[in-house]
Amino acid sequence: MQESHVYDMIVVGGGPGGYTAALYAARAGLETLVLEKLSAGGQMALTEEIDNYPGFEEGIDGFTLAQKMQRQAERFGAKSEYAEVESMDLTAFPKRLQTSEGDFFARTVVLATGANPRELGLADEAALTGRGVAYCAACDGMRYKGKTAVVVGGGNSAAADAMLLCRVAKKVILVHRRDTLRATKVYHAPLMQAENIEFCWNCIVTELLHEDKLSGVRLRNTITGEETTVPCDGVFISVGRKPATELVKGQLELDSSGYVVADETTRTNLPGVFAVGDVRTKPLRQVVTAVADGAAAVHMAEEFLAGGN
Ligand code: NAP
Repeated sequence: MQESHVYDMIVVGGGPGGYTAALYAARAGLETLVLEKLSAGGQMALTEEIDNYPGFEEGIDGFTLAQKMQRQAERFGAKSEYAEVESMDLTAFPKRLQTSEGDFFARTVVLATGANPRELGLADEAALTGRGVAYCAACDGMRYKGKTAVVVGGGNSAAADAMLLCRVAKKVILVHRRDTLRATKVYHAPLMQAENIEFCWNCIVTELLHEDKLSGVRLRNTITGEETTVPCDGVFISVGRKPATELVKGQLELDSSGYVVADETTRTNLPGVFAVGDVRTKPLRQVVTAVADGAAAVHMAEEFLAGGN
């Protein structure tokens, strides 16, 4: 890598939005680099089965889909570099990205850093991660084969995690702070019909019980105030996501939840900087909406590079 080299576009994050931007940019003849920390796919790569991405009538696992997207972008000349971005100067020209593998420069930047699981903020939660506390059933579910797992949350992630876990665990206990699920209707009937799923409605987890590893959770009913102890081997915390926007705080406009403010043009408050996928403000965070963002970002980037932004 030459320090003075300036790419037309650097994409930060190799999830579906990032690799779609890379595909469209490379096909548009833009010299494009994707910076990715570990491997392609982002959160998608951790999803066991994706049934709502058109074109795969039998469904496809997220890791395989990620690899396909990466190879497709690379077929047209996009490059990938495995590097952790440490800081960015998005107001400079060219824009400068400091990474674990050195500095990179670009005329345009596409931010595709996604969103990570939200924590409950309980005592010892971090220390117990990997020793009973988990955030991704597709990644860690098999560890609880024949065991008892608690799932916390009532959205689509919690519903999908409970469905996945009930196929491997002996018992699944879904703990939700309301009396109904927020998850889409398609999950409701299968969850209610599963013989090994129990529900604790109107309950919150107040304590993680453990010695060396997790042995149970303490619950409080938010209506009656009653406290109970639920022995379990694992707790899956599925209470939403927080956007990965630490690196751009103070440079890009963020909303009150920390997402980059950008509409469907994906343009941010800074010229030549675009935000795609789960990291931007949007009503629906899905693979199909992330890939649409990737295409839009390149359309807008081409306009910017042509001097029309
Ligand atoms: P979400 O829809 O924001 O749901 C978060 C859930 O966690 C809500 O039920 C919320 O309770 C609960 N919660 C939040 N903070 C909590 C706390 N401190 N203690 C206890 N409970 C708490 O998040 P998500 O389920 O991770 O989904 C994120 C996005 O990904 C959504 O757009 C979703 O549609 C999408 N997604 C889609 C699929 C799919 O289509 N198959 C699968 C997974 C995710 P309240 O209900 O009380 O707010």
